[in-house]
Amino acid sequence: MSNDYVKMWKDLGLDIDAHDALLGVLGNAYTDIYLAQKNRPEGMDYFNFVMSEVHGLRIKELIDEKAQGRKIIGSYCVFVPEEIALAANATLIGLCSGADFAMEEVEKYLPRNTCALIKSAMGFKLGKVCPYLEASDMVVGENTCDGKKKAYESLGELMENLYVMDLPQMKSTQGRALLRAEYERFKDAVEALTGVKIISESLKSAIQTVNAKRSALHRLAKLRKADPAPISGLDALLANQVSFYDNPARFTESVNKICDELETRIAEKKGALPEKTPRIIVSGCPMAVPNWKFPWIVETSGGVIVGEESCVGERGCRNLTDDSGESVEQMMEAITDRYYKVDCAIFTPNQDRLNHITEMVEEYQADGVIHYGLQFCQPYLMESIPVEKALEEKDIPTLRIETDYGMEDVGQLKTRVEAFIEQLK
Ligand code: SF4
Ligand code: SF4
Repeated sequence: MSNDYVKMWKDLGLDIDAHDALLGVLGNAYTDIYLAQKNRPEGMDYFNFVMSEVHGLRIKELIDEKAQGRKIIGSYCVFVPEEIALAANATLIGLCSGADFAMEEVEKYLPRNTCALIKSAMGFKLGKVCPYLEASDMVVGENTCDGKKKAYESLGELMENLYVMDLPQMKSTQGRALLRAEYERFKDAVEALTGVKIISESLKSAIQTVNAKRSALHRLAKLRKADPAPISGLDALLANQVSFYDNPARFTESVNKICDELETRIAEKKGALPEKTPRIIVSGCPMAVPNWKFPWIVETSGGVIVGEESCVGERGCRNLTDDSGESVEQMMEAITDRYYKVDCAIFTPNQDRLNHITEMVEEYQADGVIHYGLQFCQPYLMESIPVEKALEEKDIPTLRIETDYGMEDVGQLKTRVEAFIEQLK
């Protein structure tokens, strides 16, 4: 590890020993899960490089941006509009929360029966191991589920720069008005942070940058309709995960490059897994880096994941923002319209999500759906029951699983997933 990086991490206030331990675990998991895959597209070399430099080069880029006066904003949810950050000359980074860390400390702040994602967010702060979090000039929490909402009260005691965004719970006129007002308030806060006034040109350009990134992800998603699937679910998930913290323009270019390669692979009938491998849609809670456990179980148990109905997947990137507005006001309306369609399980009722899952099954010609719920996640676990019912009414085989970030249940999950995939054949 370069000494420059160690100095950079120390300057950010990281606990170097704990951070070394985290990087060790991350590196081993990546080798065992990602590099062990066969028939990967060559374009995944870019993502191998990004992952090998996840706390190195990318952090150095952010520190360099900060030195030039650019602000970094960290976020925990896809409801935080990247367009607004970019338009004010700031960089938005998704904070991952995909691994357990400092759990004993965490349980001094949060009850044991809190979902792994929330505990992880708290653990990364308490353990001083996340350079993205420590490099952030502002961290945005959002009032989505009750767990997050209350956890931000505790997290706010540990950091001075936490900004909490309120979110509606219902898709109603009043709900949309709340979202619109909260995006205006966020815009004001970002302008105050950066000292940059958002104007129509900067907002239009930011919308186009984010649209280009999402379009590249849509292109990647659509190519997974082919049989054999030209890319594994693990690799497609990784591209989605990296989209949250990479430089948007470079990311877009890298994903489009992979898509060119996948088009050739499809023409040559070359797959990441063999033709007629049972095709699975995974639906449910988001999987943040380095939460690769479940897709790894599926793809080493005889299945291939062809779509993620998740915020790290289609739910997060489904729609583009209309960039035809001329004024800031018109474009803020368009941003509100775009995010208002995100069908997170915190909304009630949430029929759109049920419809989207069914549409994805048809579009990707999936053989079955696995609903992935994190233990203690009330919104997604509750909603998994109507999801299963709606799918079974359409004769779509469905498996509901509930897990966390620990590895203790891998054997048991593998047995259930293998049995499910066997039934699909
Ligand atoms: S699942 Fe809901 S709360 Fe979580 S990132 Fe997605 S939109 Fe946000
Ligand atoms: S996984 Fe569920 S409980 Fe955890 S933060 Fe997301 S919505 Fe909340």
